[in-house]
Amino acid sequence: MASQIENMGVPVIILKEGSQRTTGREALRNNMMAAIAVAEILKTTYGPKGMDKMLVDSLGDVTITNDGATILDKMDIQHPAGKMLVQAAKGQDEEAGDGTKTSVIFAGELLRQAEDLIDRNIHPTIIIQGYKTAVDKAVEVLNSIAEPVSIDDTEKLIKVAMTSLNSKAVGEAREYFAKIVVDAARAVAEMRGDKQYYVDINNVQIVKKHGGALTDTQLVNGIVIDKEVVHPDMPKRVEKARIALLDAPLEIQKPEIDMEISISSPDSIKRLLDKQEKILQDKVEKIAATGANVVITQKGIDDIAQHFLAKKGILAVRRVKRSDIEKLAKATGAKIVTNLDDLKPEDLGYADLVEERKVGEDKMVFIEGAKNPKSVTILVRAGFERMVDEAERAIHDALSSVADAIMDGKIVAGGGAVEAEVAKSLREWSKGVPGKVQLAVEAFVKALEALPQTLATNAGYDPIDILMKLRSTHSDQSKKWYGIDLNTGNIVDMWAKGVVEPLRVKVNAYKAGTEAATLILRIDDMVAAKRSTTGGPSGKKEGGKEEEESSPSTSSSGSSD
Ligand code: ADP
Ligand code: MG
Repeated sequence: MASQIENMGVPVIILKEGSQRTTGREALRNNMMAAIAVAEILKTTYGPKGMDKMLVDSLGDVTITNDGATILDKMDIQHPAGKMLVQAAKGQDEEAGDGTKTSVIFAGELLRQAEDLIDRNIHPTIIIQGYKTAVDKAVEVLNSIAEPVSIDDTEKLIKVAMTSLNSKAVGEAREYFAKIVVDAARAVAEMRGDKQYYVDINNVQIVKKHGGALTDTQLVNGIVIDKEVVHPDMPKRVEKARIALLDAPLEIQKPEIDMEISISSPDSIKRLLDKQEKILQDKVEKIAATGANVVITQKGIDDIAQHFLAKKGILAVRRVKRSDIEKLAKATGAKIVTNLDDLKPEDLGYADLVEERKVGEDKMVFIEGAKNPKSVTILVRAGFERMVDEAERAIHDALSSVADAIMDGKIVAGGGAVEAEVAKSLREWSKGVPGKVQLAVEAFVKALEALPQTLATNAGYDPIDILMKLRSTHSDQSKKWYGIDLNTGNIVDMWAKGVVEPLRVKVNAYKAGTEAATLILRIDDMVAAKRSTTGGPSGKKEGGKEEEESSPSTSSSGSSD
């Protein structure tokens, strides 16, 4: 029915048979409900008193997490409008690294407020306009109230990391992690231009190894490879390492095609083996001649080659991941050589120390004091694997937060303080916004205030009561950083409490949330193609029932396909 338009009694079919179409209010409401439902899921996990989610995938693998991006990713949301919020969270994760839940919950609240406005007959276009001007103003206010922070103010940066870690299940290791994260971010920070720092968190490698306690996590001034030295006779420690990085095997290549070699006497077997041995020996000689004392290859090293390398006193590691090889190339300045005949002394990289160390039950190779010091590793330890995974996510978020703070040099106070302050300014400013757009701006402000209210709810306080207290406290100019003490329910100075967050996380979260909400508000027509039921590779949980509803006026006579 929906797929055709009556044109003077003649049905004109414009959509493929089986397509589902919803239009106007119905489409909008449907999408809004879905997006609000997604935001609702995250609400209970928001803030330091938020709960965790346990997610079980189709294979029975369990993830326990409080990380917004991970929850949404693992939930595999199917509704297209719900997916838009997932996208918003992903964008936030990439741009700011933290604040994913803030962006999604905010988007949900904007839509909830929009529902009210639509019920009062305010057109979505007006709402969109109001939201857009409001977010621009909010960003302006954020910039004007943010406080400076310097890369040398490690105490403040540690607080930034702690605030991010507050909502993660890393317990007593929080402060310990915060220090490591700040050291790591500062180690890889580089000056770009005159006085702007740049922190590429990709230069902080995170290596996970379960076993030990969270506080066995360590910062390594270099790169860690999860492999051991190949031969027991090789040195386990090489100082002033000259490193050959290879993407070539130290093995006798097996021929591509099956060949039969007929050997007539034991003598000729020996000759063949000797010849192979000679080839490998030559290869090792060649490497040694360049002055290399460490060989790290992506490919294999066979027994004979290992033996010769050991005799030369060379430390060798084989079957190293491509990504690790690339990191090593960047850090040590080595060139990755694919053909051993090309290896020259100038291709070698340098590190002060290459050493095999025992980590838990395993051995790992540490490359420290590389030529390019802008490369460090956080070796994450925890008793069991799920904990290691969550610790990694926690470190990622905290590291991103600290990186943001260093790069922008601006922070704000959390715990609802910044939202309350921005809300106050916007409410004042909205008085000058003409017409119905003003209502949309007011709705935006309410959505913003829903963030501290959610923090309060999760801590067991009455959200309305808290909001009233927040508002009245913020009417005092000198109390701009007052927010919620989630342990007492009192409104206290969050700045003094050290609950601080990077400006970028907030700017991005408000923008991403607004963008997702307005995208959804703009849709007034939804056309869904019929789900293919044959051989769909993935996620075809729904779609079974829709088939029967084919359009009544066209006899499905199998004409076109
Ligand atoms: P997101 O994914 O948005 O980062 P989180 O669950 O990490 O969500 O919660 C972040 C919120 O928790 C921020 O609003 C932050 O200000 C707040 N928060 C963090 N630590 C504290 C604290 N000690 N007291 C009050 N609020 C806090
Ligand atoms: Mg967070």
